[in-house]
Amino acid sequence: MHKIRRLVSLSETLEITRRIRELEGEGVKVFNLSVGEPDFPTPEPIREAGIQAIREGFTRYTAAGGIPELRKALAEVITRKTGMPYQPSEVMVTLGGKFAIAASILALIKAGDEVIIPTPCWLSYPAMVTLAGGKGVWLPTKEEEGFFPTPESLKEKLTPKTRLILLNSPQNPTGQVLSKERWDQLWAVLKDHPTYILSDEVYDTLTYDGMSHLSLGQYPALRNRLLLVNSFSKAYCMTGWRIGYLAAPAKILRAVEAIQSQMTSSPCSISQKAALAALSLGEQWTEPMRALYQKRKDLMGDLLRKIPRVSFLEPKGAFYFFIKVEAYLRGQYTTSQALSQVLLEEYHVATVPGSCFGQEGYLRLSFATSEEDIREGVAHLSQGLQALG
Ligand code: PLP
Repeated sequence: MHKIRRLVSLSETLEITRRIRELEGEGVKVFNLSVGEPDFPTPEPIREAGIQAIREGFTRYTAAGGIPELRKALAEVITRKTGMPYQPSEVMVTLGGKFAIAASILALIKAGDEVIIPTPCWLSYPAMVTLAGGKGVWLPTKEEEGFFPTPESLKEKLTPKTRLILLNSPQNPTGQVLSKERWDQLWAVLKDHPTYILSDEVYDTLTYDGMSHLSLGQYPALRNRLLLVNSFSKAYCMTGWRIGYLAAPAKILRAVEAIQSQMTSSPCSISQKAALAALSLGEQWTEPMRALYQKRKDLMGDLLRKIPRVSFLEPKGAFYFFIKVEAYLRGQYTTSQALSQVLLEEYHVATVPGSCFGQEGYLRLSFATSEEDIREGVAHLSQGLQALG
């Protein structure tokens, strides 16, 4: 028998979801603060556009990089968001933001190339680098530094083999947002190093307390080395439709398009029509959802502040709190994974351990859930932590 090559494993968050379903099947009410997707339905006009596409028989392969009208609309969106002119030829449609990132890494990285990954991070990044044969170089960030690299820490990790750096803002799992000041400091380090920069901006429409998102697409000096990734998943509650997009220099885009064509043929035709409808919706559909997240964030923050020996940075974007629970890691439960597990099994509140993001001592809590689940979930969390600690 041939040995199966197992370079990466299934995401740990999927295992948490599986266990939640199992408990629910046994009749247990679980307060789920582990979710990584909006809990709102996809807006009606988007769903209707999908149905219409099916009725009209728009159900075949499309061009590998997406239908021209969607590429054109996306180029306009990016131009508006960044204030920089983007052409349809510089933008392609991908199978979710995830495949935009995976295919970009495959296109850029050859065996032995180094990819700098600031941590805590979304754990698909290291898996993608591994699959491409690259070497993931972890760049640990600190809560005191807002969970973004400092110029000094970045400089330390840059080597002649560094081919790519992955940046994510608003950030999963910390909810932090890259400031202009910090970016200017990082750019001062990066500008003389010929590395590519991939900016994962899939949460860009979700910022709070008047904070605005800084898109790296706005910097002309970066243009020939920037890969800008975005998605319909979080902004339009379209996680299951699998539509994202990538803006990149033409040469890279052509390579990514070739990879997408060989691996997937094309993004789903129906979803592309739905995405086109999403772009025409305007803020009256998306702003109320953002405003509701803001309310939920405030509520969750108020409740969490009442738990002794738990601390956190106020999230400025995405829909996560990343709370420090180091004080509770003792006795039988010395890891965030053990703590998260006992909280689920005995207190019926689902969280994601910090170790899933490469950062011990923390739990990620999502506020993409109902106010009731937030209230009850945090109450159960508080009860559990205090009983254990
Ligand atoms: N980037 C980050 C940081 C994410 O958290 C996610 C999804 O959870 C994605 C990218 C990809 O999302 P999608 O493939 O649904 O567009």
